[in-house]
Amino acid sequence: MNNTGKKIPVCILGATGMVGQKFLELLENHPQFEVVALAASEKSTGKKYGEIVNWQQDLPLPSKYANFVLHECKSGIPGKIAFSGLDSSVAGEIETDFAENGYIVISNSKNHRMNGHVPLLVPEVNHEHLELVKKQNFSSGGMIITNPNCSVVGLTMALKPLNDLWNVESVDVVTLQALSGAGYPGVPSMEIVDNIIPYISGEEEKIETEPGKILGTFSNGIIDFHSMKINAQCNRVCVLNGHLECMTVKLSKKATSSEIIAAWNNFRSPVTGLISSPPQLLQYFYESNYPQPRKQRHLGMTVSIGRLQEATFGRWKFVILSHNTVRGAAGGAILNAELVVRQGYL
Ligand code: NAP
Repeated sequence: MNNTGKKIPVCILGATGMVGQKFLELLENHPQFEVVALAASEKSTGKKYGEIVNWQQDLPLPSKYANFVLHECKSGIPGKIAFSGLDSSVAGEIETDFAENGYIVISNSKNHRMNGHVPLLVPEVNHEHLELVKKQNFSSGGMIITNPNCSVVGLTMALKPLNDLWNVESVDVVTLQALSGAGYPGVPSMEIVDNIIPYISGEEEKIETEPGKILGTFSNGIIDFHSMKINAQCNRVCVLNGHLECMTVKLSKKATSSEIIAAWNNFRSPVTGLISSPPQLLQYFYESNYPQPRKQRHLGMTVSIGRLQEATFGRWKFVILSHNTVRGAAGGAILNAELVVRQGYL
């Protein structure tokens, strides 16, 4: 709600894609935000959303969006917040155009993430980084805020309580990433059925760099990046939704398995009142074969963890699972917008 008690109008850029569709599903009954405009590429402009979208979500397309006529992705369309699910080949310029024209842009693309003036946010982990927007020079309250890479969100959430208590020195991570992470239509079926592809373009670099910014210390308007060393290997697997990550972590101080599990299960958001932030942020499963994409992805904004074991050289290994288009994209972006409202930036 804004201070007149009305819902805040928002538009979705890239509304036809995997992330755009998830925005619509999650915003259908949101108490603070009302979707007032949808935009996508030129080929979709002027057409009715219900006729052009290739809807891929489990629940049906909310009927209220079917007759929305798609806009071109140019500033001037209705909305104060612009949620972006744009392809990264076009997101950079379009998002800048919207911010320059007074929109609060919440992006899922890589383009602006590592800019020194742009927050790379997971509100429960680094809400204080939002203050970076004060360094942006857009007029009329415009700003750009980014969501991390979809694998990085779950990874940093699992690391945050460990880092607070024992300092994380290094991370080795092997990801098994779902098909929806590649957008629509994504990987051809002839490539992925009965197969695993041990390469996702640009992904390992993002996983190795973004957590340093997110878990960095913020003071005097600058982020001092965390010095942890990260090695990532990324695989595309034949799963629709939910990224699994097998992690091995070196901590600076001694910990026990029960202390680590308690740290995860007791991890709470330092910011209260964010509608999309679940009470249980991290949930540890004791079953020896959990977490699994099909069984835990329905937890949405909660990251599932399991299989904690001591590894060689004093390290710890475990497995995490997070929903890539919910916690890793649209749900995370909506949470960022709730933080913007909560902290009075709108
Ligand atoms: P997608 O399914 O390929 O959707 C891309 C969207 O961008 C579509 O709505 C498309 O519209 C629009 N678009 C493409 N070219 C355009 C242009 N020239 N002008 C305006 N709009 C254009 O991709 P996605 O999976 O939703 O991902 C969107 C972004 O989020 C990407 O940057 C991706 O890296 C990031 N991300 C994705 C995930 C995930 O799990 N999928 C997670 C985190 C972050 P048309 O339909 O009209 O072509």
